[in-house]
Amino acid sequence: MSADRPRNASLSAANDQSAGTASVSARTGLARYLITRNRAWLVSLSLYAVIAALLVGSGAVHGDVVVTTGVFFILVMAIDLLYGCAGLLSFGHIGFFAIGAYTSAILGHFYQTSLLESVLAGILINGLIALGLGRVFLRLSGSYFMLGTLAFGIMVHAVLVTWYPVTGGDAGLGDLPTIQFGDLSPRTSLAIAIWLVAAALFWLTMNLSESRIGRALRAIRSDEVSAACCGVHVARLRINIFALSACYASVSGALFACYNGAVHPDSFGLSALLDVLLMLFFGGEGTIWGALIGVTLLRVLPDVSGPLQTGKILFSGVLFAIIIYLFPSGVAGTLRDWLRRRTSRGVNLAAPAASTATAAATRAAAIASDTVTHSLRGERVDAPTLRIEGVGQSFGGLRAVDDVSFNLRPASIRSLIGPNGAGKSTLLNLLSGVQPLKEGRILLGTAAIGQLPAEAIARLGIARTFQHERLFAHLSIVANVMVGCERGSDGRARDILACAFALPGTLREEQSVRAQALLWLQRLGLDREAEQPISVLPHGLRKLLEVARAVSAEPTILLLDETAAGLNATEKQQLKILLRQLQASGVSVLLIEHDMDFVMDISDEIVVINFGRRIAEGTPAQVREDPAVLAAYLGT
Ligand code: ADP
Ligand code: MG
Repeated sequence: MSADRPRNASLSAANDQSAGTASVSARTGLARYLITRNRAWLVSLSLYAVIAALLVGSGAVHGDVVVTTGVFFILVMAIDLLYGCAGLLSFGHIGFFAIGAYTSAILGHFYQTSLLESVLAGILINGLIALGLGRVFLRLSGSYFMLGTLAFGIMVHAVLVTWYPVTGGDAGLGDLPTIQFGDLSPRTSLAIAIWLVAAALFWLTMNLSESRIGRALRAIRSDEVSAACCGVHVARLRINIFALSACYASVSGALFACYNGAVHPDSFGLSALLDVLLMLFFGGEGTIWGALIGVTLLRVLPDVSGPLQTGKILFSGVLFAIIIYLFPSGVAGTLRDWLRRRTSRGVNLAAPAASTATAAATRAAAIASDTVTHSLRGERVDAPTLRIEGVGQSFGGLRAVDDVSFNLRPASIRSLIGPNGAGKSTLLNLLSGVQPLKEGRILLGTAAIGQLPAEAIARLGIARTFQHERLFAHLSIVANVMVGCERGSDGRARDILACAFALPGTLREEQSVRAQALLWLQRLGLDREAEQPISVLPHGLRKLLEVARAVSAEPTILLLDETAAGLNATEKQQLKILLRQLQASGVSVLLIEHDMDFVMDISDEIVVINFGRRIAEGTPAQVREDPAVLAAYLGT
């Protein structure tokens, strides 16, 4: 787990029944979990094997098509890992594919290097190029990233055509070495090798997609700032996933070259890129197994039908238009949405939801219950003092925050109030690292944290919510809280590999984090909707879910920006109880709020700012009587 402190000792303790039954249920639980986890992988590959055997056996499809489907599956999977999870659409993967193919071809043609060695050399070269390019391209956002990677793909193609002595120019390179397993023919051996590699990479990618890395990537895709505030190391994770994805493309290219026995620049041009993108969007991005569907259909369909083969480009164009118009989420996405709708109907049918009032009352009772509270917070935390010293921020000529200083004492609730535009949210952005600090100092205990990025501040135990809720739309309700529980991901290669290989430690953590997140949802009365997208929630519950996401990280300091706005009376009461419980367990809370009854009731101290400047500070009683506050803020 990414967090530094031991967490939730009592959570596991709560699950401790008798030792014997616990270990048996843990084993069966893990077995069931592994089956569920690998279901998509097993089902897609088995289905694929059966359909491929039927098609090849009946002579409808040539065996070559099935084999090259494996090659393109790896390439499309690489692009889906990057786009479907992290939201980065790379046009440069055709370049990585080409480099992988040509590395293998050049080494094989000139030095008779074995396939394995060429694959490894391609991975090394592409990995290094991607790490370098990633540092440049991943600073660019959205369409600029696409354009940058497209330029890279075009440049690689130009090099292939013009660097004649090495790449063979327009003629390409031939006479590549192949492989042979025992008595099998080289082509059969290669076909087996290709599908074994494809299946293995599929398994690794599904593991990644289902792990905290997959969640962190989808969190980045939904909202980078919010992901960083949950502790996701956005930049490092993106670069490492970009490099990993480039390595997949490299493997795919090497296998492609070896299976064809030759390479030619035409296989790596813009039309090849269009084919690959079509496969991705037709199959459905974001599911990984959708890549298998897309590649299969688009390789097999033209082969089954003669006319489609001749008019392939026209066919591709028309298909692209149809997909974008009718099935924007592709075959897999449409299937997934349909399954989701079915399960959500199942939830409602199984037990009609209690009336909203009853549900809210149940939630209020749950949140007030000490047993639930103590099963979530294992031990009392020891929050350091947060010191804000002379902090300022200007936007052009506008002085949004002007020389503000105050302390947030351990285990205290301090409200920050002031009229709209006073600079409250800007101050919170500076405290949480969303906005870089240029003036003044912010100290956590004795450590200056003002210059730290958002994810580092989150990892120090400072969690926040946003004035306009920023949940992760690409994650389910429970996964939103899980990102909070695990404090995102540090994005290191070691963590990515541990998740890809589903090491037992990562699986156990996954289960414990899920259990922890479900307890939070139970507390909000949302456990039945846990697997649903956040769009099913009304506004008030989304805001509470955002609080749950922040608090589940077990912060020592919690920053809340107008959380009570939009909550009904019961939900406000829920929030108040939660804040008091957090305070009792040692957490300090800085609260921006407009509801004066709420503020006066819950705060130990209040800071009032107006036009960016601190105009008053004190207990609720002192602030209520302060003439400057009455004049500037309360308007009396
Ligand atoms: P509050 O949260 O107290 O309502 P804010 O901190 O959101 O106020 O904003 C303070 C002032 O700074 C406002 O006038 C706002 O328009 C301005 N402001 C906030 N963020 C930016 C920004 N990123 N760029 C320019 N102006 C900003
Ligand atoms: Mg604000």
